[in-house]
Amino acid sequence: MQSTAATFDVAILGNGLVGSTLAAVLARRGARVALISEDTHPRYTPGEIATPYTAALLRMLAERYDVPELAALATAKRARTEVSAHLGTAQASSFVYHRGGGPRAPREVFQLAPPRVLPAPPTLYRQDTDAYVFHTACRYGATSYQQAKVAEVVTDADGVTVVRADGRTIRARFVVDTGGRGARLIDLFHTREQPSRLRHRSAGIATHMVRVGSLDLAPPDRPPVPWGAGPLHHVFRGGYVWVVPFGPGRDGTPLVWSVGASLTGVEAVGEPAELWAGLLDRFPDIRAQLGAARSVQPWATFESAPLGDGCAGDRWCAIGEAAGFVDPLMSRPLLRGLEAVGFLGGRLLDAIRTGDFGARRFQFMTEFAQRAMDADDRLVHAFFGASVDYGLWRAFLAVWELGSFYGRLTVEHAGREFERLETAKYLGLPFPGHEGYHELFERACADIDDVTAGRTSAQAAAGRIHAGLRATGLVPPGLPLADPSLRFLHPGPADLVRLLRWDAPDEVRPLITAMRRSRR
Ligand SMILES: Cc1cc2nc3c(=O)[nH]c(=O)nc-3n(C[C@H](O)[C@H](O)[C@H](O)COP(=O)(O)OP(=O)(O)OC[C@H]3O[C@@H](n4cnc5c(N)ncnc54)[C@H](O)[C@@H]3O)c2cc1C
Repeated sequence: MQSTAATFDVAILGNGLVGSTLAAVLARRGARVALISEDTHPRYTPGEIATPYTAALLRMLAERYDVPELAALATAKRARTEVSAHLGTAQASSFVYHRGGGPRAPREVFQLAPPRVLPAPPTLYRQDTDAYVFHTACRYGATSYQQAKVAEVVTDADGVTVVRADGRTIRARFVVDTGGRGARLIDLFHTREQPSRLRHRSAGIATHMVRVGSLDLAPPDRPPVPWGAGPLHHVFRGGYVWVVPFGPGRDGTPLVWSVGASLTGVEAVGEPAELWAGLLDRFPDIRAQLGAARSVQPWATFESAPLGDGCAGDRWCAIGEAAGFVDPLMSRPLLRGLEAVGFLGGRLLDAIRTGDFGARRFQFMTEFAQRAMDADDRLVHAFFGASVDYGLWRAFLAVWELGSFYGRLTVEHAGREFERLETAKYLGLPFPGHEGYHELFERACADIDDVTAGRTSAQAAAGRIHAGLRATGLVPPGLPLADPSLRFLHPGPADLVRLLRWDAPDEVRPLITAMRRSRR
């Protein structure tokens, strides 16, 4: 193929949330960006829970690249007025445990709400969220090609030629694949790991539903915030079902919910409706809430996909789910995608300025993808392993939530200097720079492995994990995650004051101090 001068600095394959966010930050800084996708907005995509960590990343990207529109997605209040009233409010994040085969046992529940004085994150109705970020990118000057399926990508010494299925070509200096789980750029330049390094494999289904019932559990399982007022996970041995409400209609109840399931031990989903019916048969309390619900989108299916043995090279890079996918748990795939935008954006702007798009500059993106996937794999493997027992699962959740708490503060603290997290020793973990947290996380994973292998009981392992949590000294007052009897964690203003006045250990004191300053 003849090489011609590049029309664009960067061609981005895929205009979903990750591709459009990258396009917005680059175009805002004057880069010539082509945003190419085989479909059009608005469209259904699963992936609707935004965590406080998601919010922190969006605020960081907004500030670092001067794209204030991204910060509107960080709180439900702003998102519902500035993006779309279809987005919902995550007043709490809730979990209900099921033993299966019969009614659930009382007290096997957990609910975590953000401190009441802090803004709640939104639930992301992706049709509107993705279109909003896409239009933001276009307003900053990105050129959109919709209904343009990419058939091939060819790199040469001067640039990249993106060949569309209709034979037309787009010429750029660099290409980024954000094409999601079906993306193929890695396959053009590398092989997928064989055998895959992933210990965990899961598969599942997702859709939008109407006529979702309310989950009205009798005391003592009635939480301060109704179970339906935010993302709810039904957890059971080897899997989970999520139910996520979107914006309310006139009667105050959500017009539509995101519903889906992830299961381990399933290589690929055959018939989604059959899998769903089987789940409702196994779990009567889930059936009570969802038995009458009806799907209003075709079921989407997903399964774990191995990582490429390289995710970047001369003039190309793959990020987000295009780089590999373990499981949607804890919003990890999107978080990884947004983190990758943070790490890649600055590199690309430097490359555009210097004209050097060589592999060396982008080598870190492979390291990041691999380490983040390793961490996700350990998280998901441990979560599913712990799901054999409520107490064990609850202990592991506390470890994860503690990491997410500090991870969010770390991103907020780094702010415009987000890239300095690249050197964090435990990149990929929610609290990537902290030795003590890393040890806690790894020990918890090992304890869960011991349970799986029959070397110890779930009760003994849960006890050790809670003891480990207390021993770190990292659990702040007002956030008593190490208390195994705690089922509803709803920090009030007094808890927040105690947390902000906490005489924290040296290594986390700067994070708590920064939090204190930002609340003034
Ligand atoms: C079932 C499920 C539930 C999830 N839940 C959550 C959650 O609750 N919270 C969360 O944060 N994350 C969640 N995730 C992850 C999150 O949804 C994804 O990480 C996110 O949607 C990825 O966005 P993206 O822009 O990378 O890809 P996508 O949104 O998949 O966009 C990729 C785009 O690339 C286009 N494309 C692909 N191939 C080509 C081609 N050859 N030519 C042209 N265009 C192409 C596609 O048409 C598509 O428009 C979930 C994921 C799944 C699968």
